[in-house]
Amino acid sequence: MSNAQAKVKVHVEKVNKSYGDNHVLRDISLDIAENEVVVMIGPSGSGKSTFLRMLNQLEMPDDGTIVVDGFNISDKSTDINKVRENIGMVFQSFNLFNNYSVLENIMLAPVETGKMNKAAAETKARQLLDTVGLSEKADVSVNSLSGGQKQRIAIARALAMEPDIMLFDEPTSALDPEMVGDVLEVMKNLAESGMTMIIVTHEMGFAKQVADRVVFFESGKIQESGAPKQVFDAPKNERLQEFLSKVM
Ligand code: ADP
Ligand code: MG
Repeated sequence: MSNAQAKVKVHVEKVNKSYGDNHVLRDISLDIAENEVVVMIGPSGSGKSTFLRMLNQLEMPDDGTIVVDGFNISDKSTDINKVRENIGMVFQSFNLFNNYSVLENIMLAPVETGKMNKAAAETKARQLLDTVGLSEKADVSVNSLSGGQKQRIAIARALAMEPDIMLFDEPTSALDPEMVGDVLEVMKNLAESGMTMIIVTHEMGFAKQVADRVVFFESGKIQESGAPKQVFDAPKNERLQEFLSKVM
């Protein structure tokens, strides 16, 4: 879906980040186009989550530039809340409100931010439940759901704000194997709908099928990136070759 003329949604230029002596991101530069689906792979500790968290200012870079949707978020004076309204994020751990019903979870953000009134938020929430295949769960407590169902609700909740970028950090890593497919299916449909997506995952089959571009992180650097076919079938970087030999 990507092409050279497409609008740049995320611009990252020469970003560095350290935690104490631990230099976690090293001169990272990456542009992501509107409608593009980028999958980030790499070993544990290579900086993937830190990179993702920087895109909505959950972390600040030490230096470099990050522009999201035209807003320079590496500048502390940017109103990050405005930017965050357009960025949905889904974590490994769901982070749902367990005491609320499924419908309430999805309606909460649009109502609280004043984006929608209750009636509009409920209509939207019911549409999204249909999208993620869980219409019949609207009124149940989140506690009663399986992990895979919780994650589909977490995706619906993020979509309720009508974001134009979705970030996923290992959304299926905490799930029982039989739940993974349903969540990946929802993500695949979202990708086909044209959503700009940045996804950290170890699901290589999914990456092959859905990604426009695969980015390999290792030791805080982008060691290789390209179309899935190139990255998986003809990797050039030695560390990528070694990584793939372990996970595929
Ligand atoms: P990945 O998601 O690829 O597994 P992370 O971005 O989570 O990698 O972590 C990269 C490195 O940064 C690791 O060495 C990790 O221990 C360290 N790190 C991540 N977050 C913090 C933090 N908040 N404070 C200190 N060190 C951190
Ligand atoms: Mg991580």
